Amino acid sequence: MMAARDAFSSLPGDHMTEDADGRWIPLGEGVFARRYRELDLTVGLVTGSDSCLVVDTRGDAAQGGELAAAVRELTPLPWAVAITHAHFDHAFGTEAFLPCDVWAHEHCATELAAGGTAARDAWVLRYRQRGEPETANRIAATTIVPPSRIVRDEAVLDLGGRTVRLFHPGPAHSRGDLVVEVPDAGVVFAGDLVEHAPGGSFTAESFGSDTTLDNWPHALTAVGERIVVPGHGEPVGQPFVATQRRLLDELVTLRNALRSGELSSDEVLARSLLPADVTLAALRSG
Ligand SMILES: [Zn+2]
Repeated sequence: MMAARDAFSSLPGDHMTEDADGRWIPLGEGVFARRYRELDLTVGLVTGSDSCLVVDTRGDAAQGGELAAAVRELTPLPWAVAITHAHFDHAFGTEAFLPCDVWAHEHCATELAAGGTAARDAWVLRYRQRGEPETANRIAATTIVPPSRIVRDEAVLDLGGRTVRLFHPGPAHSRGDLVVEVPDAGVVFAGDLVEHAPGGSFTAESFGSDTTLDNWPHALTAVGERIVVPGHGEPVGQPFVATQRRLLDELVTLRNALRSGELSSDEVLARSLLPADVTLAALRSG
């Protein structure tokens, strides 16, 4: 990783001021993560000799525009977009990249087409209630773009001299999780299947009504590359992913024990290795 970082030491993002958001992290030849302070979000870019693939588009049209401009500082190649899942912070910035192919899992496409507008309105309300009207206004001004290229199990894209594999590891963080694997670089973009929050791993927001907790540990088994880019936080290695898998296995065990009456909710909270709010969110998830 350090060798790759040195090779790209003059990236545009390196010259940004401390206050500026958006920072490219080179992970290999033509493979980048881009990090943001807001929501600790991480998106990605993979370039071939003919085209490039943008992994996730940020949370609104303006943020998507920032990302599109940042990609253009690195490459003039035509782009396609891959969306790791339907949650707004990963999928709502797509408008800025059109026209282009937009790849996603079929459930992600369904969620964005059928529920994208309702999700947008809910987030607008939430940001207004939080006293962040600028963010609310940006999301309100965003058009939700339904994906145009649907992945059921797997798709292999040829970017020119490099193939990228998109695959669905089964329902986990959401019903429509899509993993983007760059085999020749040993990098995988895992979306929110892996979350690397500052000082920890999962947060209460990791687990929602569209989460399939039982399958999540199995889904992580498919995330096998050397460098794993989470949907939030810095890139990690396999030991971090193995730890996340153990935490998820433990949550599944605790939930089963709660459901069977073997443990009370107080006992579950006492035994959980995760904070109470995170454990409760996991227990309540789908
Ligand atoms: Zn998510």
